[in-house]
Amino acid sequence: MERTLVLVKPDGVQRRLVGEIISRLERRGLKLLGMKLLKPSRSLAEKHYESLKDRPFYPSLIDFLTSGPVVAMVWEGPKAVEAVRQTLGATDPLKAAPGTIRGDLGLHIQMNLAHGSDSPETAEREVNLWFSPEELVTWKAADEGS
Ligand code: UDP
Ligand code: MG
Repeated sequence: MERTLVLVKPDGVQRRLVGEIISRLERRGLKLLGMKLLKPSRSLAEKHYESLKDRPFYPSLIDFLTSGPVVAMVWEGPKAVEAVRQTLGATDPLKAAPGTIRGDLGLHIQMNLAHGSDSPETAEREVNLWFSPEELVTWKAADEGS
């Protein structure tokens, strides 16, 4: 089992697409372990995207991520990192396949609705950055077997 961090970015919240995005992840079969709405501080946004700090779009990306509330979530499942990235689609919504969140709902490379961790190692780092252990719930679904 793997855990991964998902953020509904400020554009997704402002466009009232939180439910749509959660619904797609639920229907994929992933399990929600934690969720909260918050307006990220600059320091949190900078830590979250620290691997991109030398990219030209980094300053505007930090402005964007701190521009309004985001919904932060932890989802679990087999290969959850890859499953979420596949359900999100390519970074650029214009290149994301139809049927994906970004391909169906977006057009803008920065305002691309949601974030998903890009590897199991990144996911561990990001889950710990956004959530404390007591904010995550371990539970078993009725259809999961024993
Ligand atoms: N981004 C951007 N301009 C670019 C590439 C990326 O504004 O040319 C933004 C976009 O919001 C993207 C985020 O930076 O989701 C992080 O980029 P990354 O390459 O990690 O894409 P992701 O993992 O989100 O698909
Ligand atoms: Mg990324």
